[in-house]
Amino acid sequence: IEQTALQNDKLAMLGKIAASIAHEIRNPLTSIRGFIQLLRPYLESVGKQEYARIILSEIDRANDIIYEFLNSSKPSAPMKQRIAVASLIKETILLTESEAHMKGCELQYEIYDPDICVAVDVKQIKQVLLNIVKNAMDAILSAGDRRKGLIAISVRREGRMAAIRIRDNGKGMDRATLGRLFDPFFTTKEEGNGLGLSVSYRIIRNHGGTIQVDSQLNEGTEFIIYLPPDMDRE
Ligand code: ADP
Repeated sequence: IEQTALQNDKLAMLGKIAASIAHEIRNPLTSIRGFIQLLRPYLESVGKQEYARIILSEIDRANDIIYEFLNSSKPSAPMKQRIAVASLIKETILLTESEAHMKGCELQYEIYDPDICVAVDVKQIKQVLLNIVKNAMDAILSAGDRRKGLIAISVRREGRMAAIRIRDNGKGMDRATLGRLFDPFFTTKEEGNGLGLSVSYRIIRNHGGTIQVDSQLNEGTEFIIYLPPDMDRE
């Protein structure tokens, strides 16, 4: 599925709006925080120190949410570094296997081309891989326990590109979801923000690659990330 230029514009615009709203909310939060600090001795003197504590921790929570949101909706310029795709996958597995285990999902990987390297912003590409693996876990969990959850990752050269395939046997997607999954803020989850895949899409495009999806409702989903290999010292 190709995202159109229009969707890219929409994403860029939403990113800007989000950043300015976040900024505008942070300023009043900072002054609320300051005034609560000033009121603190008074609240303590009337035995209401608990109120001050709750207000402060809720303000901090709001600030954290804004910070996280800004971080995820606005990937910074890539800082490229040469790395084997295999080690990106191994690190992703390390970061996700305990959560997968807890959720009863098995993580498998197969590296067909261990030497294939890419020149990428490692942090950004790891974020993409984590997003996709976490979505796979969610899809398996919401498919119920009728089967053993399996997430299979593979790395191989496909044509001129390095291909990373991430396949799950989760609940799959219907056509309507497939048509919108890269849209910013599109989510089918109660606690989702719908940013993971739109941000991932943008990161991969910024690296000269593409993401494709193949999904069967009730059967599972496969995400394929294509990245241009770094040929320098191959
Ligand atoms: P979020 O995870 O917050 O919903 P994403 O952008 O990561 O945001 O995903 C958007 C939507 O795409 C999800 O809500 C879900 O409906 C669908 N989706 C993504 N990955 C999968 C998957 N592996 N299997 C089934 N549905 C998926």
